[in-house]
Parts: sequence; structure tokens; C-alpha cells
Amino acid sequence: MASYRNGRGPAKVDRVQPASSANLRASSSFKSKSSNVRRSGSGVGVRDSDDSVSGRVRVAVRLRPQNAEEMVADADFADCVELQPEFKRLKLRKNNWDSDTYEFDEVLTESASQKRVYEVVAKPVVESVLDGYNGTVMAYGQTGTGKTFTLGRLGDEDTSARGIMVRAMEDILSNISRDSDSVMISYLQLYMETIQDLLNPINDNISIVEDPKTGDVSVPAATLVDIRTHHDFMELLRLGEAHRVAANTKLNTESSRSHAILMVHVKRSVTDMESEIPSDNYHSLHMSKSSKPPIIRKGKLVVVDLAGSERVHKSGSEGHTLEEAKSINLSLSALGKCINALAENSPHVPVRDSKLTRLLKDSFGGTARTSLIVTVGPSPRHRAETASTILFGQRAMKVENMLKIKEEFDYKSMCKRLETQIDKLIAENERQQKAFEDEIERTAIEAQQRISEAEINYTEALEREKMKCQMDYMESIKKLEEKWMNNHSKHGTNGFINGNHGGEGSDHANEDVRELKIKLQKEMTLRKQAEEEIQHLKNSQLHPTEAGVNADVIKLQSLLDEETRQKQKLEEEVLLLQSRLSQLAFGSGQPRNSQLDNQSNGERTSIANLHEHVGLQKILSLLESEDPNVRLHAVKVVANLAAEDTNQERIVEAGGLTSLLALLRSRSFDETICRIAAGAIANLAMNEANQELIMAQDGISLLAMTAADAEDPQTLRMVAGAIANLCGNDKLQTRLRSEGGIKALLGMVRSRHPDVLSQVARGVANFAKCESRTSSKGNKNNRSLLIEDGALPWIVQNANNEASIIRRHIELALCHLAQHEVNAKDMVSGGALWELVRISRDCSREDIRALARRTLTSSQTFSSELRRLRVEI
Ligand code: ADP
Ligand code: MG
Repeated sequence: MASYRNGRGPAKVDRVQPASSANLRASSSFKSKSSNVRRSGSGVGVRDSDDSVSGRVRVAVRLRPQNAEEMVADADFADCVELQPEFKRLKLRKNNWDSDTYEFDEVLTESASQKRVYEVVAKPVVESVLDGYNGTVMAYGQTGTGKTFTLGRLGDEDTSARGIMVRAMEDILSNISRDSDSVMISYLQLYMETIQDLLNPINDNISIVEDPKTGDVSVPAATLVDIRTHHDFMELLRLGEAHRVAANTKLNTESSRSHAILMVHVKRSVTDMESEIPSDNYHSLHMSKSSKPPIIRKGKLVVVDLAGSERVHKSGSEGHTLEEAKSINLSLSALGKCINALAENSPHVPVRDSKLTRLLKDSFGGTARTSLIVTVGPSPRHRAETASTILFGQRAMKVENMLKIKEEFDYKSMCKRLETQIDKLIAENERQQKAFEDEIERTAIEAQQRISEAEINYTEALEREKMKCQMDYMESIKKLEEKWMNNHSKHGTNGFINGNHGGEGSDHANEDVRELKIKLQKEMTLRKQAEEEIQHLKNSQLHPTEAGVNADVIKLQSLLDEETRQKQKLEEEVLLLQSRLSQLAFGSGQPRNSQLDNQSNGERTSIANLHEHVGLQKILSLLESEDPNVRLHAVKVVANLAAEDTNQERIVEAGGLTSLLALLRSRSFDETICRIAAGAIANLAMNEANQELIMAQDGISLLAMTAADAEDPQTLRMVAGAIANLCGNDKLQTRLRSEGGIKALLGMVRSRHPDVLSQVARGVANFAKCESRTSSKGNKNNRSLLIEDGALPWIVQNANNEASIIRRHIELALCHLAQHEVNAKDMVSGGALWELVRISRDCSREDIRALARRTLTSSQTFSSELRRLRVEI
């Protein structure tokens, strides 16, 4: 009777992690029956135990065909093993009539191809390894039953003979990415509890290291070779095999007494989108902040070709001492004990008893997917060994593992990638920074160039403009000089600064005067006639009748009275017209000089006659008249008289100057009277003695007061003319200034009338001239009073005034001011230096040019300033 020795049986084969490597999926008869793997994705590093699934150790049995020796030796005996692959059963003959039946996960007959063996035994494990699980494929059986044939055949001559190692590596290599994944192998031999490195034989005592936290075992000292191609692997397998043979020769043993362990470390990056680090641009760097680090899966495939199982029972049989034999088989017996303990769910599993069990800790009772292939021979002579092998396999089928994916977040590669990105960004940033700085520098240079260009252009334009102005200026000077010459020759000697006075107005007035004179002449003739007639009548009184005579006398008397009235009226009219004439004369030109032109000689004579007729005293007294009209006429007459040198002395003697000044003092300000009075004063102020008198009588204050009140430019012109005359007196300078003369003068520039400005400029020039005269005599060591009173800005501003007369006065004033070193500093800071330079170059008058040049070169301050500015004179 067949009995089922496997108590738990296939019913328990459940909950095995599904294989997910697409290419490998179809072929497995070890395929999972459920797919309840949970992937929480939480946590860091290796996933926690919640993710594990149970996976029983799968066991297949393989029967080796009879070999030549057995064919002969066992010819008369029946095989001890009978397979029922359709039921996955193996029958082990006990005797001729009885056998035990065992059920396996797979039953592989003697004719089973290597390919089929690989697919049913190893392929599901390889798939799991590619998915990130540990996996073990192990062959157990008596020596000579085909363990190495099953696992280690290279298939050099016949590719169909390739064993599990070769085929597993082919599958692994074809399923990984050469760029992101890696396959590393080590190949070890365990003999008498010593681990040797088959890839580097010098390494002959490798120790096992156990991670204290996870309990994972590893052999860090073993050589790890990176496998890129299948060829690499084949070479290594050959090398390992050669070393195994050499090592065994050296140890005087056989390969069947040692365990061969191939370890394949497969590291794969999970290329799922959410864990991918995006490309290296800046934007994606930000994006990647939120993404998780990439996941790597580290599966380890362990292929174990165990030592022959017969040793356990036949120790010492081949010349070794018992101890040696124990040691040789220690690992194998320890493995049996562990599997028994696991199969029986014993609380203690003696994993630590041997190196093999330590190395296979994860394969049995651990987290790996494990497939065991037990190999048996058909010979009844080895029945006991076969039975023991089958029992080992049966027990192993009861071992439950908890499959656990070995998945890690790949912080290292993420760090590396991020570092690369950061370095790239740093480099890029540095490049941009440099480019930015270069750009700024370039812009600055460009701006500087533009500024320089603009400066050059500006200087050139200025130079051109200056030249043009100079030309215009010379042209107009020429014209004016020509005009002046014309006027001069037309009117004879003209003492007025502006020779253009007189004009139509006065011609017209002269006409009127002539007419009136004729009328007067006529009246005088008539009067004479009337007087003669009266005389005649007086003479004839002796004879006429009383009544007739009386009537005639009365008639004549009234006639005479009428005539007298007429005469008086005419005289007044003459006076009025004369005043108008003088007013017109003032209104058209500069204050009058003491000389009158020839044209008006006739009028002057008649006015002289007139004042002789009326009396100077009488006219002056009229200046104080209550009647403003009378005052006006009187002042006009006095002004006219003052225009002549010859009258001036008499006017002053008769108190005219005092009266004129009194008019300025008058509270009821009448601008016309003030204008005419100021004109008269200006004329009187031509005389040095009069200048002192004017000053003595508070004239400066009065003129200043008038200047402040006046609005009419002509009034201002008269006042300015008067002050300008006073400015030319050396002795009066300090007083003139202290009484506000300069301030008054400068105050009048508010009227922009050129006539006023011209008088102011003349005053300034006069003053400066006196100052320079005084200082050259060593009398004055202080700064110019003009500068003190703030005249410099106006001077500088008008130094290039378009009116040549103003310009000329100011040029002179500047030259005079510059004579005195004490003024130089102010002049430099006030911009007067430039004007002097201009004068020294451009002034049309040679003497002034020369004066300016001299001044500039002789002053230390100017010279050094010009040197500093690199200006040459
Ligand atoms: P083990 O490694 O278990 O000691 P081997 O793999 O060395 O056994 O096999 C012993 C002999 O049996 C070898 O000559 C091998 O070619 C042969 N052999 C083993 N299994 C088979 C098989 N399934 N088919 C044909 N020959 C086999
Ligand atoms: Mg072998």
C-alpha cells in the first residue's frame, strides 16, 4: 500500500509571491496560486514584515538515468524508484511487493530535459529575484546522482545540457537594464567549515558577517564580480571550477565533499514614473522636490551544490578520522537538523551550528523563495541513500518561508543625482553671474564712451557756437562803429555816450518854437505900433474935444491891456514849449552832457535869454511851488539849463542842486518830476565839486530811494546815470557804498532795459576802476566793495551781454577787479575767470584783450587755477 508520507502535502502550497517579470512569467509550474502581496510603500528602507507573504520551500525530485555501470550491475534487479510524474509521486520500493509513495512539488523523470528542470525548479525563483526577493536553488543528493549535472553544467558542447546556473544567469541578464541595474556574483566553496573564495583562491577563510539589526548574513570579504555579459559569467564559472579542482587537489579531497555556493546579487532600479527623478533642468529640480527617491530592489539568488549526502551516513569510510568526517559533514548534518526543526515547527532551529546553515539562514525559514531539487539514482544498491534523500526532501517541503521583498529607497543615487544637479546649477549660476558682471562692465564702458563722445561733441559745438558768437559780435561792433562814425560826422562832436539822441521829437518841438517866436515877434511889432499910437494920441490931446479925446483914450487903454495879456500868454507858451523840448531831449538819449549839439544852439540861446528874462532865482523858487504843474515846468527849465556847462556853476551857486535834491525828497512822489530832477542831478554830477556836494546833501540816499520807487526805465536810467557818475570819484567810494549806492545801482537791474543796464554797467566799471586805482596806490587791501555787495554774479552774467556798450563796461570792470589779488578767489569761484579768459581771447578791443591777458598771467591765483584746468592763455 502506498502511503502519503508528506503530511502537509501540496494543499499547503499557497500564498506564494507571484512572479512578475514579464518575459519569464508563462513557464513556471511552481507558479503562485495567489497574489496577495501588499505594497504599502510606507516607511524607509526594507519594507516591513507586513509586506511579507508565506512561501513554502518547493521540492522537486529528479531521477538520474541508469549509468553504464548500473546497467550491468543492476541488470537483474528492478529499480528501487518508480516515478508517477502525472501524480507528482515517487514510489520507493521497500521490497518486491511493497513500496512507499511520496508526493513532491515536481517529479522529474530520468528523461526530463535540462530546460524543463530549469523551468520548473529554478525559473520561479529567478523571477522572484528579479522582483527583489531573495531566492535559493539547492541540490541535495548522494554523490553521483546528478546535482552538479543539474546545477552546474556549462553546456559547452551541447547547449541543451546547460544547467540551472547558466540558464538562470541568461534569464537575469536578459531581464535587467545595463544602465540602471547591476549583477554581481561571488562564488564560494565550503569545506570543513572553511569558506574559500573560488574567484580568488588566496581568500581561503572568509568569515560570515551578520547584521545585528536585521540578522541578514553576508560574506563581505568574498570577491564580487560585476557581470555585464553572459560570456563574463561563463568565464567566471570556468575559473571558479578550475579553482575548485585546484583547491580540492591541495586539500586532498573531492569536490563531492564540499559545498559550492554561487551568489548572484541583482540590483534593479524601479522605473516607475512616480519615483523617477526628472531631468536636470531647473524647473524639474523643483518638481522633484515633491517626488520620492527612486526605489531599488536588491534580490539575491543563491545556488547551492551540496556535498554528497551519503557522507552523513558513511563518515570515516574514506580514510578520514571520525572527527574529520564529522567536520566534513557538519554543515550537511546541521542543515538536516535545521530542516527537521523547521518542518516540525520546533521553537529552536540550530542555524548557528554550521557555516552552511548560517549562510542559508534566509533560504530555510527566512524570507527567500527556495526551491530544492533532490537527486536520486535508480540503483537498488543505494536504496538507503535514496530513501534518506527522499525523506530530506519531504521534510524540506514542510518548511515555510515568509517571502519579503528587498526594496530600498535609493537615497544614495538620489543624493548623487541631486548633487549633480546642484553642481550643474551652481556652475550655471556662476556662469550667469559672470556673464551679468561682464555685461555690467561692458555697459559701464559703453556709457563712459558715450559720455566722452558727448563731451567731445559738446565741446566742439560750444567752440563752434563761441566762434559764431564772436563773429556776430565783431560784425555788430563793426556796424555800430560805422553807425557811430556816420552819426558823428552828421552831427559833429557829440558828447553823449549814445549819439542817437535828439531825433524827430525835438525837431518837431523846434519847429513849434520857431513858429511861436515869429508870433511873438509879430505881437511885439503890434505892441510897438500900439505904443506909438498912444504916444501920438497923447501928443494930440492938446487939441481935441474933451469928450472925443476921453473916449479914444479909454479905447486905447483897453487895447493896450489886451495886448499885455496876449504877450503874457505867449511868454508862458514859449516857456512850456521850451520845457517840452528839454524833456524830449532827455527822453531820447543818455543824460545830457554839459555840451549841447549845434542844432539846438538856437534854442539854448533863447532859453538862456528866457532865464535871463525871468531870472534864475525866480525859476528855482518855482521848484518849490505848491502847484505841481508849475514845479514840473520849472524843473524842466532847470534841467535844460543844467545840461549846459556854463549854467551849472550858476545853478549850483543859486541853490539849484539843493532844490533838485529836495524834489527827490518830496513825499508826494511824482515820477516825471523825479525823472527830470534826476537827469539834472546827473548832469551836475559830471563835475567833481558837485559830486562832493551831492554826497554831502545826502544825495546817494535820495537817489537810492528814487531808484527803489521808480518804475519807468527812463527814471531809472537817470538815477543810474547819476550814481554811475558818482562812482567815478575816488574819494567818495566808501561813503557811496556805505550809503547804499552800489546796492541801489544793482537793484535797478530789475528793469532789463538796456539803457538802465548800460548805466549800471558804467557805474560798476567806474567803481572798479577807482578801486583798482586806490589799490594800486596801496591804499586798499580789502576785497572789492562791489564783490562785498554781491555785484559779481550780475557782472559775470552780463559779461557777454549782447549790447556792446554794456559788455565793454563790464569787461573793463572785470579787468579792474582782477587787478587786485584779494578778489581772485571770489572771481574764480564766481566764474569770472572764464569771462576773463574769454575777454583775453575774444574781445574785439586789443587793449582790453591785452589787459585781460596781463591780469590773468600776473595773478598767482588765476595762473595756478588755469594750470590746474590745463587752460593756456
Ligand atoms: P553529483 O554531482 O551528484 O555527484 P554528477 O552530476 O557529477 O553527480 O553526476 C554523476 C554522473 O552522472 C555524471 O557523469 C553525469 O553526467 C551523470 N548524470 C547525472 N545526472 C544525469 C542525467 N539526468 N542524465 C544523464 N546523465 C546524468
Ligand atoms: Mg557533484
